[in-house]
Amino acid sequence: MKHLDEYRDAGRARALAAEIARTATRPWRIMEICGGQTHAILRFGIDQLLPPGLELVHGPGCPVCVTPLELIDRAIELAQTPGVVLASFGDMLRVPGSKTDLLAARAAGARVAMVYSPLEAVRLAGEKQDQQIVFFAVGFETTVPGVALAVREARRLGLQNFSILPAHVLVPPALRAILGSPQSRIQGVLAAGHVCTVEGYEDYEPLAADFGVPVVVTGFEPVDLLQGILLCVRQLEQGRAEVENQYARAVRREGNREAKALVREMFEPVDRKWRGIGVIPSSGLALRPAWREFDAEARFALSTGAVEEPSECISGLVLQGAKKPYECAAFATRCTPERPLGAPMVSSEGACAAYYRYGRHHV
Ligand code: SF4
Repeated sequence: MKHLDEYRDAGRARALAAEIARTATRPWRIMEICGGQTHAILRFGIDQLLPPGLELVHGPGCPVCVTPLELIDRAIELAQTPGVVLASFGDMLRVPGSKTDLLAARAAGARVAMVYSPLEAVRLAGEKQDQQIVFFAVGFETTVPGVALAVREARRLGLQNFSILPAHVLVPPALRAILGSPQSRIQGVLAAGHVCTVEGYEDYEPLAADFGVPVVVTGFEPVDLLQGILLCVRQLEQGRAEVENQYARAVRREGNREAKALVREMFEPVDRKWRGIGVIPSSGLALRPAWREFDAEARFALSTGAVEEPSECISGLVLQGAKKPYECAAFATRCTPERPLGAPMVSSEGACAAYYRYGRHHV
């Protein structure tokens, strides 16, 4: 299949792995930010093609994993409110809140609709005007334009029964927090190609300069990932710390100007709590005042208290690349995809789920 087969070509992948081995003269630690990249790395065994000492650690790029417990609790609370239907992507349904998850809440009578796009939630609002439809807006920069379009469409249609529960998070502020941590041992970064398709990579340039860390915008197929790693290793070996674009077939430096303009018109940056990590300044998005009527947190009286994470779950360390999933005492024992303690074990982009699925119980 064009645009897929050539990026899964075993011969090209082996040649790139050999070039990486020739280039790396010492150990390096590189973080791939996106959970989709983590899954691809384990699925295709890319980590096992790399020379000893070249370590890949996994970043916070799983939006489901970083959605805080109290926000999931608020989503459940909305679904349990008479006259309200919570519309959500399917991957949020099994993520545990502090007491239960959306799927279990639905089995107990809460009203949860699984949708495939924000516009589907708007359509639902049009069909069920006697009910309030709240879309659980989880995701990174990639999904925000679709949510912005949905809100604009709801206003165009004059729908008074549509709102969103905003849970969007932004990669560059999180990366700044992780790289700026005194414990950080990350020497290079693979940035997520799909996020940069929307936002471009200008925001990564000050990060590379401030922390002396090369950043390579990278795709998701095996050849993409190996090329991204090679570019990163070359920079490290040459003492450079720049932003390079491996994913040039989809990403421009300035990103998608129209999508960015729409997002900036409707959303503004706010401090956001990341599950297991804590509050990161300006790392989330909220609707601007002119659009606040579509904010479910303004429309409904919801619980506001903070909730403690289960002490056993070390997902915060996993999401910052400080620990691997198999270093968690609960991994594959008390925490499995069937009975998850933390979000990274149940999300389709979670690092713990990837290690479990591809049998990396000990590496
Ligand atoms: S294995 Fe489970 S408990 Fe451990 S960090 Fe991952 S999600 Fe949390």
